[in-house]
Amino acid sequence: MEKLPYEKPYIKKLQAGALNKFGSRTGLQPVKSIDGVSVKSLIENYGSPVFVLSEKQIRKNYRAAYRAFSTRYPKVQFAWSYKTNYLNAVCQIFHQEGSWAEVVSGFEYRKALGNGVPGNKIIFNGPGKSINDLQLAIEHNSLIHIDHFDELNLLLTLSKNLVNKPRVAIRINMDTGVYPLWDRFGFNYENGEAWSAVTKITGSGSLQLVGLHCHIGTYMLSADAYGIAANKLAELAVRCQTELNHKIEYLDLGGGFPSTNTLKGAYLPGNDTVPTIDDFAEVITSALLNFGFANDDLPLLILESGRVLIDDAGYLLGTVIANKRLANGKGAAIVDFGVNILFTSFWYEHQVSPAQDFAAHTENMVIYGPLCMNIDVIRESINLPLLNPGDQVVVHKVGAYNMTQWMQFITLRPAVVLIDEKLRTHLIRKNETLEYTAEPELVPAHLNNNK
Ligand SMILES: *Cc1c(COP(=O)(O)O)cnc(C)c1O
Repeated sequence: MEKLPYEKPYIKKLQAGALNKFGSRTGLQPVKSIDGVSVKSLIENYGSPVFVLSEKQIRKNYRAAYRAFSTRYPKVQFAWSYKTNYLNAVCQIFHQEGSWAEVVSGFEYRKALGNGVPGNKIIFNGPGKSINDLQLAIEHNSLIHIDHFDELNLLLTLSKNLVNKPRVAIRINMDTGVYPLWDRFGFNYENGEAWSAVTKITGSGSLQLVGLHCHIGTYMLSADAYGIAANKLAELAVRCQTELNHKIEYLDLGGGFPSTNTLKGAYLPGNDTVPTIDDFAEVITSALLNFGFANDDLPLLILESGRVLIDDAGYLLGTVIANKRLANGKGAAIVDFGVNILFTSFWYEHQVSPAQDFAAHTENMVIYGPLCMNIDVIRESINLPLLNPGDQVVVHKVGAYNMTQWMQFITLRPAVVLIDEKLRTHLIRKNETLEYTAEPELVPAHLNNNK
């Protein structure tokens, strides 16, 4: 019989507990406060609906993630994924913790500069950089991650007569055993395209190839996929060294670690099923440590985690407008926030908690938003007690991708409040007003009846 390969032991927090007969671990409890600040007072002071972020939880998440990697690998750097949540106050928390910025557009790039991030700590990703964006990034000595050959050719033109060669990396897509393949971004590994890009850059003499990058997916449930990705990047880095005598300074494994939200249609809650950040850290760092780099020659490991660092630090508080019974007898509650501000309700079965005491009886109901649109469903099916008009609710784990993808549609976007570590509350984005939405509009004179 073949001997099983040795696996070194590691300690992992046990997350699973006993299920009750409804599948979840805990009974339904009212959620009357966030970090000790009462839901009632938050709504009273900032309006309803209102997004609330916990600074304490954001920092806790960041430190746990950093610890998971830095205790296993000597050179680790996180870069905050701006598109996950680019409210300036949020970005500054991550930058205070030591995070660089990871941006995917000229707008985000300028936002990072505005937040005081030094140019050489901004990673510029994405397929849509303009000439102006690239020039700005070159001037600030940023890390430009090239997505395609047209961008590479443009960069070669822009850098022809420069004394300081721009520092670039290439984004690489690959088969990691997770399908459908994300082959739309970057250069493909398996068909040799990535290697062609490498040799074109190193042969040009006008760009410095400093890193290799991948971002293999989002809400990834397979830690093993990251082991495959780490191996493929490491293989290319070693090949650069041996065949081109060129040293790669860093490997950027991107983001994609899942938050503990429950995906729509999942049988078990996300809390019980998603791998932990330690699982991912273990697989990625083992792959790199075992690859055969000399100990003093390990590449810097960069991570661009987004949702896992902030989802559970965000809450949406709202108010019940009405309840009704549908023609089929099912209960329904109408709340004052719609899918236009809670985009992730298309993907997740967000936990919704009443914010006040309630009667013991619960029933299966649907939660609608206030938009005059059939798709405006926050939860298709959730067990909750009777919710009366004026009752308040808390939606959990909404910190990622809502405060960037939200849109002004039918209703205005609400305020965002940060609770700091001393439990003080800060308005970090004002609620929108009619004047705010009207400001960029222009009415031609012949249509201006009232003036
Ligand atoms: C969106 C994005 C991230 C963050 O992804 P998460 O799944 O939220 O961790 C990181 N890197 C790149 C290139 C991205 O586009």
